[in-house]
Amino acid sequence: MNASSSGNGYAVTAVALTKIYRRGREQVRALDNVTFEARKGEFIAVVGPSGAGKSTLLNILGCMDAPTSGTLRLLGNPVENASEQERTLLRRERIGFVFQHFGLLPTLTVAENVALPAFFARRRLDHRVKELLEKVGLSHRGRHRPHELSGGEMQRAAIARALVNGPQILLADEPTGNLDSATGNTIIDLFRQLNVEGLTIVVVTHNPALAAAARRQIVLRDGTNAPTGHVVHDLKAVLHCQTSPPWPEA
Ligand code: ADP
Ligand code: MG
Repeated sequence: MNASSSGNGYAVTAVALTKIYRRGREQVRALDNVTFEARKGEFIAVVGPSGAGKSTLLNILGCMDAPTSGTLRLLGNPVENASEQERTLLRRERIGFVFQHFGLLPTLTVAENVALPAFFARRRLDHRVKELLEKVGLSHRGRHRPHELSGGEMQRAAIARALVNGPQILLADEPTGNLDSATGNTIIDLFRQLNVEGLTIVVVTHNPALAAAARRQIVLRDGTNAPTGHVVHDLKAVLHCQTSPPWPEA
């Protein structure tokens, strides 16, 4: 990796990331020497079979977990030796995270859920919450509780929440995994729109349509990655696509 990749044009520079979990006496090498970079404004899909280390990678990119070895820069900031406080700040201010199971708090309204990260950042962003609810098509749902929403609406609320502190990077772990394909498509459209507006997106997915919406795919297998810039051809095998894929044949 050359020195220029640590410069301002990069949202993520990950070099030789390795993560070893210990389970009793057993060691699990969840990530093994993963190297990739994402330019600012890129939209990348991380694909690969279950257990390949995709969530582990995303959690490390999201500063929710630390690598056992390797180096990581986010937006030019070295992360692997950062203090817990610095990592918390990066996570809160620069990174938005979206989960498969939405992670909305059931006792709060949709608007309160969206506002929560701003509250933790000691910001009052009522106008921003309103704006974001509009953006994700939930203006009419702000006072509802999550259980009154459809799955697609819950995920849109979760995306609004991920954006409330104005992050530069959006990380999403199987965001359409709990949605039917039509609903999933509305989420894909939203990611596309956010990316066009300049947000860097890294999404882990098994959804061929979402993987194809990304501009580049990274394939993980047994914790390790093939060279970046994988061609679409590889995706088919990785996603075990039975029917004809929505992307053009390679
Ligand atoms: P994926 O998201 O691609 O399905 P994961 O990143 O969740 O894969 O897991 C990669 C490997 O690491 C798996 O073998 C998994 O069992 C293991 N693993 C993940 N998290 C932990 C943990 N906290 N402790 C021990 N092993 C873990
Ligand atoms: Mg996973």
